Amino acid sequence: MARTFFVGGNFKANGSLKSIETIVSNLNAAKLDPNTEVVIAPPSIFLLSTAASASNGVKVSAQNVFDKPDGAWTGELTTKMLIDHNIEWVILGHSERRTIFKESSEFIAEKTKAALDAGLKVILCIGETLQEREAGQTLNVCCEQLKAVADKINDWSNVVIAYEPVWAIGTGKVATTEQAQEAHKGIRDWLASTVSSQAAEATRILYGGSVTEKNCKELATQPDIDGFLVGGASLKPAFVDIINSKL
Ligand code: PEP
Repeated sequence: MARTFFVGGNFKANGSLKSIETIVSNLNAAKLDPNTEVVIAPPSIFLLSTAASASNGVKVSAQNVFDKPDGAWTGELTTKMLIDHNIEWVILGHSERRTIFKESSEFIAEKTKAALDAGLKVILCIGETLQEREAGQTLNVCCEQLKAVADKINDWSNVVIAYEPVWAIGTGKVATTEQAQEAHKGIRDWLASTVSSQAAEATRILYGGSVTEKNCKELATQPDIDGFLVGGASLKPAFVDIINSKL
């Protein structure tokens, strides 16, 4: 089964009304590979303006969502609010949420379940630290993070996995093509043995971590790399070249 190539742009806490309007206008006007699914994730305050102006097949994602229904959760967005505004996607488990905001794998799994139950699609981020890689723990760490989710959900059809080695995020230190392919293959094998061969075959596994217009084409040649989650470079015009990696 052919998996549709997927490129996500995670703006993190960057941008202004004007700069995001410029990014969106650039994407709207660009010639984008019609065979690539494109999703951009602005900070929550810009979700509606971005969704209102994005065209050319570009979809919008939240960067986080809470796992509980509407209620007394100051500062949070609920799944119902995203659905109410036709926001289809949410990023969960980003390493910045795991490390800076101390989100556990169990909490991320709860949020993944809540998001899927509400009808959202999830970009689920996993990945190891440099210390864990050097200790030979890369796949164990990734699979433990995935296992927390597999304990709570059965249907992976609305989940895209983003493998993002923590040491490669925002550092300019991209994983080699071999390192990325090896991790992606290991993750796909884990899906086959733990979830189902169908889920392994169908689930998109993105690479994230210092992807640029210079390194994307080679990474995109790998059989288990189904796209990218892009941070810094998604704020630049060259994001279009990353979207078009397969052309
Ligand atoms: C990210 O934040 O998901 C990311 C991959 O960042 P960068 O591309 O800047 O490394």
